[in-house]
Amino acid sequence: MTDFIHLLPDSIANQIAAGEVVQRPASVVKELMENAVDAEASEIKVVVKDAGKSFIQVIDNGLGMSETDARMSLERHATSKISRTEDLFKLRTMGFRGEALASIAAVAQMSMKTRIQENDLGTEIIVEASEVKSQNPDSTPRGTAISIKNLFFNIPARRSFLKSNGVEMRHIVEEFQRVALSRPDISFSLFQNDLPAYQLTKGKLTQRIVQLFGKEYKEQLAKVQESTQHLTINGFIGKPEAAKKTRGEQFLFVNNRFIKSGYLSHAITNAYEGLITSDHYPFYVLMLEIDPSHIDVNVHPTKTEIKFIDERTVYGIVKAAVRQALGAHNLRPSIDFDLDVNFANKEKFETLKDKRYGQFQTHESNTPEDLRRFEKLYQDVLKNEKADSENSENNIELTFQSSANDLLFGQKDLKESEKTSFTFLLHNVYIVTQVKSGMMFIHINRAHERILFERYLDQLETGKNASQQSLFPQTVQLNPTDYSLWKDIKEEVKSLGFDIEDFGGNTIVINGYPMEMHGQDEKKLFEGLIEQYKIFQSELSLPKKERISRSFARRSAIKPGTFITDNEMLSMIDSLFGCKNPNYSPDGQLAFFILDLNKIEQFFN
Ligand code: ADP
Ligand code: MG
Repeated sequence: MTDFIHLLPDSIANQIAAGEVVQRPASVVKELMENAVDAEASEIKVVVKDAGKSFIQVIDNGLGMSETDARMSLERHATSKISRTEDLFKLRTMGFRGEALASIAAVAQMSMKTRIQENDLGTEIIVEASEVKSQNPDSTPRGTAISIKNLFFNIPARRSFLKSNGVEMRHIVEEFQRVALSRPDISFSLFQNDLPAYQLTKGKLTQRIVQLFGKEYKEQLAKVQESTQHLTINGFIGKPEAAKKTRGEQFLFVNNRFIKSGYLSHAITNAYEGLITSDHYPFYVLMLEIDPSHIDVNVHPTKTEIKFIDERTVYGIVKAAVRQALGAHNLRPSIDFDLDVNFANKEKFETLKDKRYGQFQTHESNTPEDLRRFEKLYQDVLKNEKADSENSENNIELTFQSSANDLLFGQKDLKESEKTSFTFLLHNVYIVTQVKSGMMFIHINRAHERILFERYLDQLETGKNASQQSLFPQTVQLNPTDYSLWKDIKEEVKSLGFDIEDFGGNTIVINGYPMEMHGQDEKKLFEGLIEQYKIFQSELSLPKKERISRSFARRSAIKPGTFITDNEMLSMIDSLFGCKNPNYSPDGQLAFFILDLNKIEQFFN
């Protein structure tokens, strides 16, 4: 019997791995820079010649390596950064796969000089195509200097795939910019054929942006700052008028790692809707901080793709944060009334309103005008504050706490009747209430949509429903498309509390409807739900249950301009802060904010 299978020699295995990690000189620059960052360097120097084709060197003043570690670092799967599977979900380092150095050494000539603090003498290793040629003591400064000569010298086919120097250099600069932006607290320099291309001193992010892209950027930046329980967003976006015709200067980082995400870019671009045309791309540098256990970085060898456990929430928060930044700098039209007119609860509240408050009604068409004035007033405060905080990046403009517990109500210990006296309805659009740190404004429509959404989703997941039987069952004739759509979501619609019978021939009969919708036209309610479901179907791809909950919440949420009673206000506040994610409406629009006492004080200064 003859056996054919054998293990590949390391040199070949490394070359194959290198195919994924090392695509071009820029990949080497990226991997070496990231290693230097992981080694806690405060100064990193990159030198390239011939667009990296003949020479790349990265010098850092970081931790360095011992003689043995230096030797080990060249082995495949050799890393100091993780040791257990769990570590993958606690990652704080750029590297973790332990294959970059092995891969690079497999396809080039490498010299590594490194020294740790404790030793007087460092070590120098020379490797060529995975073969260690020599290792000798060497007097080298603390830190590591790695030089790569003649990339792909042993794989002529790959070498011939490299593009012109101009193109390869552009890739290098791109990688350099990404790492440099991710860590403004580190000094970086890039030398090209002995000439300095960038010399970046450590400082704030704004300063780094200006050093990399030019002075004119300073006036074009709007600050983004948002923090929720699981996600913090910081950074800058370009003002709409500064948007360019080419994509490119768009940088998204998650836990300091540059990532590419079509989905999140969409969230950002979407926030600019109506402010830039579709052939323009806004500038942005956004830093997301998220609990490493909520993401998976190990999706691709180059580590520029990641998976979020809760991608939709991240989408919503990113979009809202960008919108907030655009609004806070008075760049967006003041308020958007892109809300539905046709809604289920409208009649109920109209009647209520007319009956009880008819004579005090303000004319409804006045409301948006008043709101706009208020919005402007508020934004002016923010603008002033921004000017004040221009030089201190860490100054928080607005903090939105995510958890209800964090939000210590100033009125916590009050009796119900006392609570109402601190809570009022503003223009039938907002609830204004006193909280410990100032005054909270709740957007009723968005808050209600959030509350209903979570409630419906819960009903769909637990299968709990409360249905009310109709006295007069209603027959509804659907068109074939709607009929088959209804068939698709029949079970879920039932869980919401609809009792619907199929009569065949595209006809259904509604026998019962959700308990809390008492007194409404069940036919309209149902048709509204189907209509909204169709609209959402063509938008984001959401799981069925979520889409149904969103649709129904959108249809039944109280619309702006609707009067609600004191008790309804209080119960809305309670329900909102009982939500898992009270900060935003299901589609990521801000549901409330707090006007801080300090900010109120500023009105008087
Ligand atoms: P990874 O970064 O995924 O761990 P690498 O192959 O890039 O894998 O590096 C292997 C190991 O070599 C690292 O885990 C680190 O311990 C060490 N190392 C690499 N570069 C440096 C450096 N510039 N300074 C100190 N240690 C380094
Ligand atoms: Mg690495």
